[in-house]
Amino acid sequence: MPKTVGVLALQGASREHTAALEKLGANVLQVRMPEHLRGLEALVIPGGESTTISMLLESSGTFEPLAHLISEGLPVLGTCAGMILLAKDVIDGRPDQKSFAQIDITVRRNGFGRQIASFESDLKISGFTAPFRGVFIRAPLVQSCDPSVETLATIELDGGGQSTVLCRQRNVTVSSFHPELTDDLRIHQMFLENLA
Ligand code: GLN
Repeated sequence: MPKTVGVLALQGASREHTAALEKLGANVLQVRMPEHLRGLEALVIPGGESTTISMLLESSGTFEPLAHLISEGLPVLGTCAGMILLAKDVIDGRPDQKSFAQIDITVRRNGFGRQIASFESDLKISGFTAPFRGVFIRAPLVQSCDPSVETLATIELDGGGQSTVLCRQRNVTVSSFHPELTDDLRIHQMFLENLA
């Protein structure tokens, strides 16, 4: 049975996620209003601008019902701005930007610095044999993760040390990079395979 997966389509890279999920055989619905949440088995929150997505979630009345579904266990994949919208703590956010606070991580918006705002890196992802090309665009930097968060990939930081770029806690999976901007479907595939 194909899974019915919503892609939040208020702003950002929803088209690319839709294409990736459809290639994998999912039945994809665009989510812009509360009534679009009905019948979803999973949801993707794309990259874009977290402040804008937050504002549109509020003005469309989608924030509260979606927050409820995620807290009840709806499987969610959040990429880049989607990671920010799902993180428990956001540093350098706009004061009025809201988060679902459904994964126990602290992220810094645009945390990789403006001068290296966008870059690509080959990532070693837990469970994948070949590297995954990570596309980072003004990405959030994960500053800390609760021990209960499962880190699936990290990146070496220029100043030393490393930071999580893909992680999962309960029903929430987030990446600071954009898996939808490459032809590699393995992250979307992993997300779909983990659906009950
Ligand atoms: N910097 C953006 C934000 O704060 C995220 C960038 C992205 O999603 N590519 O929302």
